[in-house]
Amino acid sequence: MDHFLLRDGVMHAEDVPLPAIADAVGTPVYVYSTATIERHVRVFRDALAAIDDPWIAFAVKANPNAAVLATLARLGLGADVVSGGELLRAIRAGIPAAKIVFSGVGKTAEEMAAALRHGIGQFNVESEPEAEMLSAVATEQGLVAPIAFRINPDVDAGTHAKISTGKSDNKFGVAYDRALDAYARARELPGLKVQGVAVHIGSQLTDLGPLDAAFARIGSLIAALRGQGHAILTADLGGGLGVPYNPALPVPPSPAEYGAMVASATSGWGVRLMFEPGRVIVGNAGALVTRVIRVKEGANDPFVIVDAAMNDLMRPALYDAWHEIKAVAPNGDRLTANVVGPVCESGDTFAMRRPMDSVRAGDLVAFMTAGAYAATMASTYNSRPLTAEVMVNGNFWSVVRERQPIEALIAADILPPWLEKG
Ligand code: PLP
Repeated sequence: MDHFLLRDGVMHAEDVPLPAIADAVGTPVYVYSTATIERHVRVFRDALAAIDDPWIAFAVKANPNAAVLATLARLGLGADVVSGGELLRAIRAGIPAAKIVFSGVGKTAEEMAAALRHGIGQFNVESEPEAEMLSAVATEQGLVAPIAFRINPDVDAGTHAKISTGKSDNKFGVAYDRALDAYARARELPGLKVQGVAVHIGSQLTDLGPLDAAFARIGSLIAALRGQGHAILTADLGGGLGVPYNPALPVPPSPAEYGAMVASATSGWGVRLMFEPGRVIVGNAGALVTRVIRVKEGANDPFVIVDAAMNDLMRPALYDAWHEIKAVAPNGDRLTANVVGPVCESGDTFAMRRPMDSVRAGDLVAFMTAGAYAATMASTYNSRPLTAEVMVNGNFWSVVRERQPIEALIAADILPPWLEKG
């Protein structure tokens, strides 16, 4: 459920009409709803009510905007980060370092050192060479790195190949069959405190079966590790729960169903459970508001050309992702159209042959469920500046990221001396 609703025929984010934001800030603009974020945190927490003291670390990659992170910090969430930049954003937003977990296959020595200095709660180590590097960095600093190995359970998550992470041929984690050796070696390395296991098999999962299968493997591994004398105190179950994008498709499992499965799958593990939800917290909490530039005749259906493009919202081009497209002030008529942006790529297509609200040049349109993996993936392709972001809270709203001025984009380039105007 979200807080983007029609009121008097006009879509509002909570109590704010979207046209008021579009008129003041211009388009395209991402709009986030605080009430929706708060609701999703509550629902996720409630779903884990049977679990003692879960460590919920928001996957910052889903939406790293400082206002989003500060909202989550106030709600007591931790953070799952995958770069030094995300680490800094999480800390600046007020998320305590002890609640931060650092994932990712390519942590550099500099990133490790920064995370150690901040005193983060856990490193999810994705390979044995990474453990060796972390050991060296920690020893050099005279610090101890709390670690879990991220295990690749070789389970097919049944999601899009580009967001599937738990098969043996994916780059993520330590192969399940190598896990015991990796832990045995890590125990010998100075500067590491081996404390847990971690797993994350993919994103936008619409079936709990693969998660259940992965957790079963992790449960067996915990028992085997304890058998070898390792003190396993934490188990990080990752993120991945899907959200509804297309109302015509079956609704993904609810957080409550996920929570019940987790409680049953992990019963008797005797660890502190950790979670890294991203999409399920912020996905439905954002909409990308765009204006129709013009409608152009097509061979079959008209092309609705909007002022947002693949550089602003990459998911359809990258994953063939489906976003619901709604008129901000629907007039009751419908049309079937291809919805495209201005970028010079055929991939800059948001929808083909889509039945949707009838719209004309100048109308506002909203791409729904654009709170996760949306603004954060934006680029400046075609020299299109990064778009603005706005957060709504009740009847208040505020720009939380300025639209990038085109001059700033151009000024970042530097002419070499031999090309400077003499
Ligand atoms: N944890 C890790 C390690 C991830 O790579 C991801 C994203 O794929 C997440 C958590 C968050 O996943 P989601 O947004 O699907 O909950």
